[in-house]
Amino acid sequence: MKLDKLIKRYRIQNSKGFKLDEINPGDTAGLESEFREEAKNLLQRSITELAELQDKLYAHNEWSLLLVFQAMDAAGKDSTIKQVMSGINPQGCEVHSFKAPTSEELDHDFMWRSMRRLPERGRIGIFNRSYYEEVLVVRVHPTLLDKQQLPTKLVTRRIWDERCDDLRHFEDYLGRNGTMIRKFFLHVSKDEQKRRFYERLNNPEKNWKFSAADIAERQHWDDYMHAYEQAIRATATPQAPWFVVPADNKWFTRLVVIGAIIDALKDMKLSYPTLAATEREALTTARQQLDTET
Ligand code: ATP
Ligand code: MG
Repeated sequence: MKLDKLIKRYRIQNSKGFKLDEINPGDTAGLESEFREEAKNLLQRSITELAELQDKLYAHNEWSLLLVFQAMDAAGKDSTIKQVMSGINPQGCEVHSFKAPTSEELDHDFMWRSMRRLPERGRIGIFNRSYYEEVLVVRVHPTLLDKQQLPTKLVTRRIWDERCDDLRHFEDYLGRNGTMIRKFFLHVSKDEQKRRFYERLNNPEKNWKFSAADIAERQHWDDYMHAYEQAIRATATPQAPWFVVPADNKWFTRLVVIGAIIDALKDMKLSYPTLAATEREALTTARQQLDTET
């Protein structure tokens, strides 16, 4: 099983005609359920491979990697992030969860809060929700836009297209500055979400995850799917592709996500820095100093 082959069918990068229903949330690429055991081993091996690549990314210190996670509630963002990143050095990685904006954040342009959280060179930054909420939750609930106090003249019918253009340009800009971007839409079905909500309601250890607001959002399912489709169409580019990841089976979601992250890091052609002749001489001197210590 080659992960780089597996991820190809979920990678959206030139997407004018992209339709969300091209990808089935229950898809497992024909891998049968007996494969689950093997999937576990493959995930484990991939976690190790990712750790090695991250070490190089950190040492190389030129590129950074921004991973954006978007999904409907209970699609498994948190658990995917937890599992997939479980092997990496916490020093080289930062996760940020974006919630409803504070009043300070609302007093700035919508990108402001994200810009301050972008990963430094050599690091991996994970956005658990992101600036995409602007063209998702805010688009589905336009009253949220009022809170931003935009000059009225700027709020036209084209605002969502304009914001998608801005997102695409912003990501181009980041790409040209050495931030590689990979975006994941964990695509769960409405039925599977219902099942997971029941699990949260019925299992005391999962009660804390339940939020009545999630049920309310579920009523806007079709609007969200439309918003996702539009956002993906407008912002999937070769430099900052979307991965629409089937999310009804968690074991499969994790494989696709980790495969895509490894693929991105490999694209960077990372290597450990090599020392110049003078620096190598300094190492020799240091060694001699240690040798001659009394
Ligand atoms: P979990 O439920 O797994 O803990 P979560 O990401 O759903 O994680 P919540 O605190 O439940 O976290 O929800 C965060 C809420 O903030 C989401 O409903 C999201 O749509 C909302 N949100 C995020 N960004 C924005 C934004 N820019 N404008 C308005 N709402 C936003
Ligand atoms: Mg939530």
